[in-house]
Amino acid sequence: MSVWVRDPAFARDQPFGPQTLPYGVVDAGDGPRVAVRLGDHALVLTSVAHSLGDLATLVSASSLDPLLAATRADWSALRARLVSLVSPGSTAPAGAQLVPLSDVRMSLPFTVGDYVDFYSSRYHAENVGRIMRPDSDPLLPNWTHLPVGYHGRSGTVVVSGTPVERPHGQRKGSPVPKFGPSGRLDIEAEVGFVCGGPVARRVPTRSAAEHIFGVVLLNDWSARDIQGWEYQPLGPFLGKSFATSISAWVTPLDALATARIAVPDVGHPRLPYLAEDAPWGLDLRLAIEWNGTVVSRPQFAHMSYSCAQQLAHMTVNGATVRPGDLFASGTVSGPERTQRGCFLELSWGGREEIALSDGETRTFLEDGDEVVIRATAPGEDGSVVGIAPVAGTVLPAVDL
Ligand code: CA
Repeated sequence: MSVWVRDPAFARDQPFGPQTLPYGVVDAGDGPRVAVRLGDHALVLTSVAHSLGDLATLVSASSLDPLLAATRADWSALRARLVSLVSPGSTAPAGAQLVPLSDVRMSLPFTVGDYVDFYSSRYHAENVGRIMRPDSDPLLPNWTHLPVGYHGRSGTVVVSGTPVERPHGQRKGSPVPKFGPSGRLDIEAEVGFVCGGPVARRVPTRSAAEHIFGVVLLNDWSARDIQGWEYQPLGPFLGKSFATSISAWVTPLDALATARIAVPDVGHPRLPYLAEDAPWGLDLRLAIEWNGTVVSRPQFAHMSYSCAQQLAHMTVNGATVRPGDLFASGTVSGPERTQRGCFLELSWGGREEIALSDGETRTFLEDGDEVVIRATAPGEDGSVVGIAPVAGTVLPAVDL
């Protein structure tokens, strides 16, 4: 292929054109290698190393780890070279390896360090509060003052497409708890932030770009019956730690420059360490597909805390952030029923059935069900920036 993208209008209108260029790790039969996605193809970066100069060493490993350990200046310089390399009408360098996505196997693109999950949608927090604690204030008193979060399990973060086995666990029962496969398996549609740059502590919001490399979509699979019995007083544990899925491609923050927006008010001024001198909210439009039916369209613009505020909060006590750390936004829900980001909310605690287009109805996940979360963002000049989907299928619980 001598010309990358023959029709500039096509390139601009499709979500994985030269304006996006997410990074992933592909295996086309000769081992895992770093690539960028271009339309429905993967451009293997070792095949264009001579066009990348000194920066080629950052993408010559079998994961994104060396790239994440570099600096914002290097990330932006590499992206500028890649954008120029694949711009519409430009000629492909000799030897460039452009492989159809159908011919590659994707792997988890980086070594996940610490994993933190936040809870930053007011609508999600209020809905869950109303469902779980109907007789009290749905929003707990700390919620408008800090981005509530917990530490999750990085070892079970898996790449999109990995099947998810229905977990066993304890759930409430009378007179004694029951044990067995979860009967209330759910998803949470979230956005994950992939950290990089130098190891740092106390990262102010103004320095977020030095430590946030890019974004993925994230499905925080949740067993509600296990969670409901175990979570008090210390929060989520085994109801969440069995699997967390992320996109196979990491969209660099630079691709989302035109999607930056201010976060909504929380009703009072933020503490100084959570104030922002530039907007760090993101105008991402999500869609949740359940067995092929779009059941919800959450908008990330409704999130009350930005990634910069979450990172500032996560490190304000002196805790470090390191390359490969991952933090998630919390379930993305909006004010409308059609914008709820999990099935607990969509089915209102299992009481309202959700209709799928094949005539079936659901409240929680059944074995064999597939969930795909997709998202787009506004790009420059009316273009669309895609965030690579995160997909997963439910496998039956194993026999114990
Ligand atoms: Ca979550």
